Amino acid sequence: MEYQPNTNRYSQMQYRRCGNSGIQLPAISLGLWHNFGHLDEFENSRAILQTAFDSGITHFDLANNYGPPPGSAEKVFGKILQEDFDGYRDEMIISTKAGYTMWDGPYGDWGSKKYLVASLDQSLKRMELDYVDIFYHHRPDPNTPLEETMAALDLIVKQGKALYVGLSNYPAAEADKAIQILKQLGTPCLIHQPKYSMFVRWAEEELLDVLEKEKVGCIPFSPLAQGLLTNKYLDGIPSDSRAAKAHGYLQQTDVTESRLQQIKELNEIAIQRNQSLAQMALAWLLKDPRVSSVLVGASKPEQLADSLLCLKNIVFSQEELNRIEKIIE
Ligand code: NDP
Repeated sequence: MEYQPNTNRYSQMQYRRCGNSGIQLPAISLGLWHNFGHLDEFENSRAILQTAFDSGITHFDLANNYGPPPGSAEKVFGKILQEDFDGYRDEMIISTKAGYTMWDGPYGDWGSKKYLVASLDQSLKRMELDYVDIFYHHRPDPNTPLEETMAALDLIVKQGKALYVGLSNYPAAEADKAIQILKQLGTPCLIHQPKYSMFVRWAEEELLDVLEKEKVGCIPFSPLAQGLLTNKYLDGIPSDSRAAKAHGYLQQTDVTESRLQQIKELNEIAIQRNQSLAQMALAWLLKDPRVSSVLVGASKPEQLADSLLCLKNIVFSQEELNRIEKIIE
């Protein structure tokens, strides 16, 4: 049966302005790193995307290398766009990135102009798109001058292949430099994408201050620490979980006794707040107005529906914050 998007989708979502830009992002965005490759079940990927769009999620985050195999998430996404979302492109923010290994030889990795321009051309072909909304440099390159990488981002925008640009995994000082270069080029940095969750907090040290000062948005990735910040690992490692999958990036060895103890204690607080632990972990990030959107993953539509309920309560008492801090410090 032909998919018809929920006509109430926009009333269910909260939207936040991204830095000093014209763009508003949904408080929850969907990432396609896992669960959208050729190894994954197509109908499930499709159902996750439909659930997302029906719930007011307008922002979909990809990268050249998402799969597996690399590139296949963009292909699957492109196919679903064609089949289900024809006519809805203008209601979507679609992001992709380049910066990790994508093809053999010296031009398929890192941050040269050669790599970024070629990679985005490939991404556009795979997704069957004329342009993406946000193009990111995926990680800093210690061997390419920052000026060259930023000039590549600027060129891509001037060519109309991306509307906005972003940085990912850049430490605070390097992000600051890159933001200044982009400003001088006339292509302001829209957003930064750091790994940030209750379990990974380096962004709090300086990065968030830089982004606030420069009025650049922030979209934390792996906000559930790849699923650790949920109740799923409390009674062992479920066979369908990321930690159990051969191609998942979470390892069984990441599920340690000390992590489980923290998860158990956090889960108690979540229960007292009438939230699932996943919802509390997302709310904990969204309590900070510097966070423009939180970038979740989901292996099933039901998980995404659960995560979205975090929006019902993103307020924490000082006592709750203190208790959480004691567990995760
Ligand atoms: P999360 O931390 O949100 O982990 C998602 C996983 O958590 C799901 O696949 C699922 O795992 C589990 N899960 C999600 N919701 C629930 C729920 N409500 N209840 C129980 N379990 C749940 O994010 P990801 O690590 O997937 O990253 C999100 C996105 O961030 C990526 O898709 C990508 O777009 C981006 N990203 C960017 C990177 C970068 O370098 N810029 C690097 C990594 C990610 P399970 O499979 O076990 O069910």
